[in-house]
Amino acid sequence: MPDPSRLREPKIVAIANQKGGVGKTTTTINLGAALAEANFKVLVIDLDPQGNASTGLGSISTDRNLTTYDLLLEEAPLESVICPTDIPNLMLAPSTTDLSSADIELVSNERRSFLLRDALRSPAAEELAFDHVLIDCPPSLNLLTVNAMVAAHSVLVPLQSEFFALEGLSQLMLTLREVRQSANPSLRIEGIVLTMFDARNNLSLQVEEDARKALGDLVFETRVPRNVRISEAPSFAQSVLDYDTRSKGSAAYRALAKEMLQRNVGSIR
Ligand code: ADP
Ligand code: MG
Repeated sequence: MPDPSRLREPKIVAIANQKGGVGKTTTTINLGAALAEANFKVLVIDLDPQGNASTGLGSISTDRNLTTYDLLLEEAPLESVICPTDIPNLMLAPSTTDLSSADIELVSNERRSFLLRDALRSPAAEELAFDHVLIDCPPSLNLLTVNAMVAAHSVLVPLQSEFFALEGLSQLMLTLREVRQSANPSLRIEGIVLTMFDARNNLSLQVEEDARKALGDLVFETRVPRNVRISEAPSFAQSVLDYDTRSKGSAAYRALAKEMLQRNVGSIR
């Protein structure tokens, strides 16, 4: 008997912001770990040639046989690219630096923006029955990020609590609008999450105030604090939830997962 509480198709979320170092990869790994801990079947797709999500989840670069590069070039199906991680319920589609040439290699491919979507929508991929797919995007609004946005139901934007944080958002929103108009009309904004938040720092508070004023309910209540355990965890190839389960960072990512799930109650997915 299928469990009726299970989503029929996975909820696909692109974690995007063209600024580097704002917490995309950290959010992908730890939100993924929090959802997996809550017994959802999760797939993390590493769409950044830097492969930080892959490394952070314990994948050793020389062991990466088939990667998201092969997936995008239609040389390997999803089921052969994904591999298990040390986190139960969490699988990984790893990346390597190969992915950095995908842009150029795909220039003449008319379906170049749809490749990830097609790979995720294949019957074999659907049989894997993931509940949540999180796509870690590169720090750019390039073809890779567009592939993520075309494949996704929604975009989650980590916003570093720092000066100029909001400046890049308009460009991101423009890309989002273009994707909506061309390839994925139902693409939603999942939410904006403040990362590296420091409540003792006036700048953090100012960024929060500005973000809530400009973006209202799109900003998650949950703020991810600046927390040294979060930054230490990847060098042990662990999520912060495993590395220090009682840390403030772990609590924040559990809260973010809960808030995201609650927001989605009542909506179609
Ligand atoms: P991006 O993927 O957007 O480039 P990362 O997730 O790699 O950003 O984060 C950039 C750096 O900031 C990493 O070294 C990461 O460990 C650190 N970092 C991210 N979030 C936090 C946080 N909440 N507290 C402390 N350090 C963090
Ligand atoms: Mg990253």
